[in-house]
Amino acid sequence: GTAAASTAGGNVTMSTNAEFEPFEYKANGKIVGIDVDIANKVAAKLGKTLQVRDVAFDSLPAELTAGKCDFVAAGMTITDDRKKNMDFSDSYFDAAQAIIVAKGSTIKGKADLKGKKIGVQQGTTGDDYCTKNYKDTPPKRYNKGADAISDLISKRIDAVVIDDYSAQKFVAKNANQVQKLSDALTVEHYAIAVKKGNTQLVSTINGVLKDMKSNGELDKIINKYKSA
Ligand code: GLN
Repeated sequence: GTAAASTAGGNVTMSTNAEFEPFEYKANGKIVGIDVDIANKVAAKLGKTLQVRDVAFDSLPAELTAGKCDFVAAGMTITDDRKKNMDFSDSYFDAAQAIIVAKGSTIKGKADLKGKKIGVQQGTTGDDYCTKNYKDTPPKRYNKGADAISDLISKRIDAVVIDDYSAQKFVAKNANQVQKLSDALTVEHYAIAVKKGNTQLVSTINGVLKDMKSNGELDKIINKYKSA
């Protein structure tokens, strides 16, 4: 997949970080999830075959600038900082940062996080939030949310701050050890990112999203992976 091919046929390449169930994760050796289903609709619209590149979350912006992919679909939140280096489609999902703690933890909500050892996924909005709000105790940064959860279970950290839907999946898998608190730390909107200036691809993606929203397909996909 070379990027930004514009003729029909051939491949269209998406980069992601497949550690973020239900949006992208590995099941039976395949990368699946809400973002993959949306990306397949975009590929179909372009008359191309979807290729997926799985890289670290914090190298996703470079995938676009280096032309290694056509778009990034990674449960990525639209932020002003990111907008400097990439363009975003319309949003397709609303999210929030959530707090996960060990069962029985003294941390009951946002107000108890100050001074605690918090795990985040490197380069995410959860990382940004904790870095900004807890300057005296910078978060411990992990490549995978799953590694932060392991450290939480083995008591090396006190809490994990991560996107709410992904948090629900991690908690469901470790329900005896950890729990998600009800506090939401942020309001975020996920979108697909393209190389800055690729207005043609953004408008194709927006067209696909608009159709998927109005015909109920997007809700169907979200519900399928939510309960998977
Ligand atoms: N929504 C968060 C962000 O954009 C986390 C995304 C992820 O971990 N894949 O930073």
